[in-house]
Amino acid sequence: MKTLMRRVLDTLLPPNCLACDTPVEDDGQFCLACFRAANFVSAPMCVQCGVPLPYAAAAGAGGKCGRCEAVPPAFTQARAALRYDDTAKKLILPFKYADRTESARGLARLMRRPGADMLAAADVLVPVPLHKARLRGRRYNQAALLALELARLTRRPCVPDALVRQKHTAPLERMSLMQRQAELHEAIRLRPGFAVAGKYVLLIDDVMTSGTTANACAQAMLAAGAKRVDVLTAARVADPRFE
Ligand SMILES: [Zn+2]
Ligand SMILES: [Zn+2]
Repeated sequence: MKTLMRRVLDTLLPPNCLACDTPVEDDGQFCLACFRAANFVSAPMCVQCGVPLPYAAAAGAGGKCGRCEAVPPAFTQARAALRYDDTAKKLILPFKYADRTESARGLARLMRRPGADMLAAADVLVPVPLHKARLRGRRYNQAALLALELARLTRRPCVPDALVRQKHTAPLERMSLMQRQAELHEAIRLRPGFAVAGKYVLLIDDVMTSGTTANACAQAMLAAGAKRVDVLTAARVADPRFE
């Protein structure tokens, strides 16, 4: 019934490109021009946090960026589909703030390739949580929509409310790494009853900036006995040191 409805709607309203208004064959796709303009994250990148590097020698001997070498994150590996540039913003900002929830499908499809190994091995998909106050304003957690869509595509279990953000954290964008860590300290907790012991968790988010939020989530789950935590995001902010 749902597919029939969808087909009827598709005939009436042909699907548009994820990033612009060009009609495309199936929803959750880029038009050719946007696909060409999209900047996919590719090697060389840090083996741990996945930050794109300008050249392979920019990584240390272990293949890690300087930041991961100096202060190793709690997660084992982070990967992303797109570089967070103007094309990625055209997809992600309306998804986050303007109710373009149908973008979850297309973004999840883009995340399948960089996340293939992690998606195949993970025991459970868990989205980065939003604080309740922010959830009320926005009505949905964009990370949870991505996690549910990925779970559907790959038939993996997903626990959308496994993590809880208990403090309304200030926007992190303008803070230093130290300030971000202090702001997030104790802000993320496991929902009581979520049994994470011995599990390989794949954390899902829309954009990874410094990785501080993902790291706080990973710390909370590892402290509760998770075996391993990886991170998969739709987009990745490039390291300003390498721009
Ligand atoms: Zn387009
Ligand atoms: Zn790194």
